[in-house]
Amino acid sequence: MTAQDAAARLFQELTGHAPDGVWSAPGRVNLIGEHTDYNDGFVLPFAIPHRTYAAVGMRADGRIRVTSDHAEHPVEVAFADLTALFPKPGDTSLRVADAWAAYPLGVAWALRAASTDAHGVADAHGVDIAITSDVPVGAGLSSSAAIEGATASALNDAWNADLDRKALARVGRRAENEAVGAPTGIMDQMASMLGETDSALFLDCRTLDAVPVALGMADAALEILVIDTRVTHAHSTGGYRDRRDACERGAAIMGVPALRDVAVHDLERAEGLMDDVTFRRVRHIVTENQRVLDTVRMLREHGARGIGDLLVVSHVSMRDDFEISTSELDVAVEASLAAGALGARMTGGGFGGAAIALVEQDAAPAVSQAVTAAFAASGFAAPHIFPVTPAAGARRDA
Ligand code: ADP
Ligand code: MG
Repeated sequence: MTAQDAAARLFQELTGHAPDGVWSAPGRVNLIGEHTDYNDGFVLPFAIPHRTYAAVGMRADGRIRVTSDHAEHPVEVAFADLTALFPKPGDTSLRVADAWAAYPLGVAWALRAASTDAHGVADAHGVDIAITSDVPVGAGLSSSAAIEGATASALNDAWNADLDRKALARVGRRAENEAVGAPTGIMDQMASMLGETDSALFLDCRTLDAVPVALGMADAALEILVIDTRVTHAHSTGGYRDRRDACERGAAIMGVPALRDVAVHDLERAEGLMDDVTFRRVRHIVTENQRVLDTVRMLREHGARGIGDLLVVSHVSMRDDFEISTSELDVAVEASLAAGALGARMTGGGFGGAAIALVEQDAAPAVSQAVTAAFAASGFAAPHIFPVTPAAGARRDA
């Protein structure tokens, strides 16, 4: 059974009747541009075929109920109580076991606020929402943006909120920042809402200008492999916070609103103004921004075959300057390259999660085997390796 059918069936089990519709949104992989989003910089993610589905139906009693195939039981609140529930990250009346419900309920809360701001009225009724997903959770493929995007798309239609895709991406981020309490940027939600088949999304995180850039993977007989290390390090949240602080410090020293405003040729001056650690954090962001621009130009002028070296240099910068890689991620990259990958890098926030490798279609099995063997030789748990085709963003399915 597909995840879409499963969502409709879960809804039927929950309510005893069929849903009004089914909506979905994908996870994402970031091709290049890591930790640049909260520095007002550039990123180049693409949506993946793995999706989260939300089957939704109206109810007349002003209550909102959510269930998920990843959760033990449904969570139900009165619509009027949503504002009492949020925004109070970590301090809501949701029980710990129900913490996941802050994603869809937070979206309902943020969507109602956004549509009231836009139209002066909130045409919001009670709803039942049944969620199923084939996006790996917590693997750095943004199952969070997928559940936000699916719920936001569904409620936008169900409530006639009439928000555009960018506004729905903002709704998802607000839910994640303020209802869940995770201090993330907007890249994931934009990729999930605006992704297009066989394209990456060139996103300016300052202006939110978003332009699809064709990847032409199939025509070039290329493939992108995800290597999920299945390792998440305990210090990931603290590490993320620490890197954000370093970037803010660097921008303040340089006298600019964000590191986006520092150019590669400013780095020599920057080095004399700050301590070594702050400088290396700054250098990663500044050079990574430039690498995104270079990757977009390379894709447009020569196609995906030309971007391998940019991916590798990006990984080295994250490993040595930003210091967010792990032994598993480094082995994944090195073994991929040794087995003939055109390029490889860790992707996502770091401290665990996944790497990507750009490979010739023909070479994909050999690269997978080489990475699996290298993990075994290093005494690491077996990685989960699978290809991803750049896929379409959020949509109504039924
Ligand atoms: P990632 O986005 O990399 O997968 P996050 O920690 O940002 O990891 O988001 C994962 C969290 O999102 C889960 O712990 C869960 O609370 C919530 N979540 C994601 N997908 C689902 C789902 N299908 N059902 C229930 N909760 C989900
Ligand atoms: Mg996430």
